[in-house]
Amino acid sequence: SLKTGIVGLPNVGKSTLFNAICENGKAQAANFPFCTIEPNVGIVAVPDSRLQTLSDLSKSVQIVPTSVEFVDIAGLVKGASKGEGLGNQFLANIRECDAIAQVVRCFEDENVIHVAGKIDPVEDIDVINFELALADITQIEKRLERIAKGRAKTKEEIASNEIEKGALERIVASLDQNQPARAVPLNEEESVLVKGLQLLTMKPMIYAANVAETDLADQGAGNHHVKALREKAAQENCEVIIVSAQVEAELRELDPAEAEEYLQSLGASEGGLTSLISAAYRQLGLLTYFTTGDKETRAWTIRTGMTAPQAAGVIHSDFEKGFIRAETVAYEDFTDAGSTAKARDNGKLRLEGKEYIVKEGDIMNFRFNV
Ligand code: GDP
Repeated sequence: SLKTGIVGLPNVGKSTLFNAICENGKAQAANFPFCTIEPNVGIVAVPDSRLQTLSDLSKSVQIVPTSVEFVDIAGLVKGASKGEGLGNQFLANIRECDAIAQVVRCFEDENVIHVAGKIDPVEDIDVINFELALADITQIEKRLERIAKGRAKTKEEIASNEIEKGALERIVASLDQNQPARAVPLNEEESVLVKGLQLLTMKPMIYAANVAETDLADQGAGNHHVKALREKAAQENCEVIIVSAQVEAELRELDPAEAEEYLQSLGASEGGLTSLISAAYRQLGLLTYFTTGDKETRAWTIRTGMTAPQAAGVIHSDFEKGFIRAETVAYEDFTDAGSTAKARDNGKLRLEGKEYIVKEGDIMNFRFNV
């Protein structure tokens, strides 16, 4: 499944946040095996209020949310790309991830040592992103050397190597200017050719500002570290999520009523975890469709652009092979109508074929041959 790697300098709150995410996942889905599968890998339920609404309408016995994976990637220090600390292992772990959540320390606490001796989110980000960029440059140089050796034989291979080389040279130029690979415009052919390198700075990045509990009420507006971070992220077109790892950890210890009371006393509404998980889901280019009935209401994850048979294949490969058609209704049309039968009466239930591109929130009922 798709993974988001949690990175950041030591002592910024990565593990605290990772543990809170995993505890939250367990609480959201008591009857589903969301869990920490390895000490640093957790499968987490994606919170979605539409599930409860659908389940109420269908009188479902159970709800099954969809999930994303988070990986706590420790060990990045200055010099990681040169193999310092757990450098190489760290970079290999990130390479396997589909998106990156970078935790940035925006809280002051003299009891928690900062590796650089002072709180400076923009500088912290530069350290991390510099290591990622160096790793990418090394990777690209190796690839360019291989292309230069000229093993390509056919005309097509030579032509495609030329295109790849051009794209890689533009990416290196961008990295040299402190700009990530994802900032370089590539056409479709170039994207495909470059994809194999799994460049770290090509992956979508979310910045998670770890703030003090007093910063939750105004979402960090009064915190100049958060302000600096937002400006930096805006230049890179990246999302910023405000979260307090410590508060999230404390919330997991409380029962729901106490947790609600605690959040209210801080002037905060929903936990930052929900925003972080949702942002990760979005950045991964994922959509949710639903199946609903008296047995269960369930969310399924697909990639943007998948057709109805491909979406059916997420449930079972036989569904894709034997796909005939899908009965589908948009989430709002279903909840407006209150049932499939009413939605049909309203003319909102559609029959869709193999070409149909599934949309966010579609409720699907697949017809297939076995
Ligand atoms: P990591 O090295 O990035 O994984 O950081 P940890 O999660 O281990 O946290 C390092 C220290 O900072 C621990 O003592 C945490 O209790 C503390 N810490 C984490 N988040 C917060 C926070 O939001 N506020 C404060 N005051 N301390 C925090």
